[in-house]
Amino acid sequence: MAAIPFSSYEALKDEECEQRIRDARAALKDNVLILGHHYQREAVYQFADQTGDSLQLSRLASKAKAPYIVFCGVHFMAEVADMLTATSQKVILPDLAAGCSMADMANLVTVERAWKELNEVLKADEVVLPITYINSAADLKAFCGRHGGTVCTSTNAQAVLTWALAERQKVLFFPDQHLGRNTAVRMGIPLEDMVVWNYTQPMGGLTPEKIKKARIFLWQGHCSVHQLFLPEHIQRYKQKYPDAKVISHPECSYEVCELSDAIGSTDFIIRTVKQSPKGSRWLVGTELNLVSRLAKEVLPEEKIVDFMAPMVCQCSTMYRIDLPHLAWVLDNLLESNVVNQIIVPEAVQKEALLALDRMYQIS
Ligand code: SF4
Repeated sequence: MAAIPFSSYEALKDEECEQRIRDARAALKDNVLILGHHYQREAVYQFADQTGDSLQLSRLASKAKAPYIVFCGVHFMAEVADMLTATSQKVILPDLAAGCSMADMANLVTVERAWKELNEVLKADEVVLPITYINSAADLKAFCGRHGGTVCTSTNAQAVLTWALAERQKVLFFPDQHLGRNTAVRMGIPLEDMVVWNYTQPMGGLTPEKIKKARIFLWQGHCSVHQLFLPEHIQRYKQKYPDAKVISHPECSYEVCELSDAIGSTDFIIRTVKQSPKGSRWLVGTELNLVSRLAKEVLPEEKIVDFMAPMVCQCSTMYRIDLPHLAWVLDNLLESNVVNQIIVPEAVQKEALLALDRMYQIS
C-alpha cells in the first residue's frame, strides 16, 4: 500500500494525534521501540519507551530487539542508531529536517581540506589525531575511523582526549570548540596550547608557526542553544542566591563553565540534581525542555531548579519532532510502510564503526 502522506496529519489536534499514537503503539506491540532524547518536547517525550542522552541512546539502540526503532532525537543520533543495529532493523526519524546546527558546522569537504592544510605544515597522519563529537554526520565519523581517530560524547570526552594525546602529539577536535576547550582545560592543558581552526579561512586562519606550536586544534563550531548562556546570567543569580549551585553542559562557553560548580553531560546534570540534598537550589545551563522536566521532578523534594538564560533556549531542530510526525510514522508502520528511514551507506558505516568501536573501548 502507498505511504500515507504527511499532509493529512498537519491539521490534526494534539489529542487526536495522541490517540492515534496510543492506538498504533498498542497494535504494533514489541515491533517498535521509541527512543527519546532528553531535549525532546514533553508532548513527544511521554511516548518514549526509553530515554537518555546521546551516549545512552546509542547503547540502547545497540541492544534493541524491535524491528523498527523510532528515534525522537536528531539526524546524527538516528545515524548512530542505524549503524549499531542489525541490518534487518529499521531506524526512523519522524521528521528528516530534525538536524543539529552544530553538526552542520563541519562537513567532509571542510574537514578534509583542514587535514590537507595541516599536512602542508605537519605530517598530520603521524602527529594529529582526529576526534569528532558524536554530534556529527556519519561520514565524519568515518573520516576519523580511517585516520586512526575516534568519536566522543560529552560523557566520555576526557577519557577520549586523554587516550588521543597518548597516541599522537596533537588533536583535531570537531565540530564543538567548547566541548574540546572545556575538556582540555579540565585535564590541565593550558589555553595557550589550543587554537581555534576557522574553517572558513585558508589554513584555519592560522600561521604555520601557530600550527606547529598548537597541541589542540578546536574547530570553530558551537551549539546555538548553549552559546546563549552567559557569565552574567550566573553572576546575577549568585548575587540573589549566594548558596545556589550552578551546573552547566560542556557545550557552554569556557567563561560559563569557569563560573559553574559542576560541568557534565545531560545525564550527569540530571543525576547530580536528583542526588543533591533536599531543599537545594540549582541554576542549570542546558536545553529548556530538560530543565523544565527536571524542575518538576525534583519539586516534591523542595529542590528549586532554575533555567540559566532569561530567554527561551530550546533545541529548535529537535523541536521539529512533534505529535503529528510521530503519529504519521507509526500509522505508516501499521500499514507496513517505512517512511523517513535513516540509512548510512555500508562503506561509510564500516569506517564510522571503527571510530565508534574505539570510543566504546576507551570509555
Ligand atoms: Fe545540536 Fe545544540 Fe540541538 Fe544538541 S542542543 S542537538 S548540539 S543544536
